[in-house]
Amino acid sequence: MPISEFALIRRFFASQPVKNPITRLGVGDDCALLAIPDGYELAITTDTMVENVHFFAGADPEQLGHKLLAVNLSDLASMGARPVSVTLALTLPKVDEAWLAAFAKGFLALAERYSVDLIGGDTTFGPLTLTVQAMGLVPRGQALTRSSARPGDFIYVTGCLGDAGLGLKIKQGYSCENPEAALKRFNTPDPACEMGQALIGIANACIDLSDGLAGDLGHILEQSNVGACLNWDDLPLSPAVLNYISDTGDWQMPLCAGDDYELCFTVSPDKAGLLPIDCRRIGVIESQPGLRFYKSGDIQLLQVKGFEHFS
Ligand code: ADP
Ligand code: MG
Repeated sequence: MPISEFALIRRFFASQPVKNPITRLGVGDDCALLAIPDGYELAITTDTMVENVHFFAGADPEQLGHKLLAVNLSDLASMGARPVSVTLALTLPKVDEAWLAAFAKGFLALAERYSVDLIGGDTTFGPLTLTVQAMGLVPRGQALTRSSARPGDFIYVTGCLGDAGLGLKIKQGYSCENPEAALKRFNTPDPACEMGQALIGIANACIDLSDGLAGDLGHILEQSNVGACLNWDDLPLSPAVLNYISDTGDWQMPLCAGDDYELCFTVSPDKAGLLPIDCRRIGVIESQPGLRFYKSGDIQLLQVKGFEHFS
């Protein structure tokens, strides 16, 4: 006989010791309770992953657990918030104990790494749908937003672009040598938690790259009422992505493929020397709206778009 809803919650999700002093009450009551320290704001975000939309049917459950939490922690990172707690809503087509054990393992290992408490959730029957709400602390008034880029700011990204996109191409049948690194970036991204927190007081605007640089930087430009010019030669591209481009001619992939989970942020030139993290300057914010880029000695208007649901 399959285990009951409550036994399932107890067995897989309710046995973690509390890691954060702000967690006053965790799993088991109608609500969890958090004590927000003076001088901080609570940053809150939600991301859902739906089978056959965000992941393939039959995807590895341990990797799914990791990725579900990682994409939420990445949103906290982009605001400069330190992750503290999460809730987990699971809609499951059946109770598969091996699946649940592997999912919980991937999820809880990443939670452990960032001292995140799982403080509640919901468990229901239905098509496989995984939702996390993540909460983090950010010093009052200092969160990094999409709306505060200024003309003249330098634009930076952490890490390399397009490796997760390459991982997806590989899953869809593209073959290349040494596919492991790209697949790892797609399956188990690392949220840039420390980097986001280190940018507080230095960066103006920041966003995490979930839907591709062109679309995500586009959100900063729109919400800040500015434009930008990027330099193609400055984009951080791995040898594997460069090989993919020379193989296929698909040079736009690293600009419009999702799942990078790196940060893109802007910094005024007088603070650029303060940057404490490894990152690459890729362009500059301008007052003229639109996203332009400098490629092969030419200034072009970038027409590529990021991923959007319903379109
Ligand atoms: P209620 O019906 O009052 O909303 P539930 O029966 O849904 O409560 O859940 C019981 C407790 O277990 C609550 O504290 C809830 O937050 C927690 N919970 C339910 N599902 C999960 C889950 N997947 N992960 C963590 N906690 C969960
Ligand atoms: Mg409930």
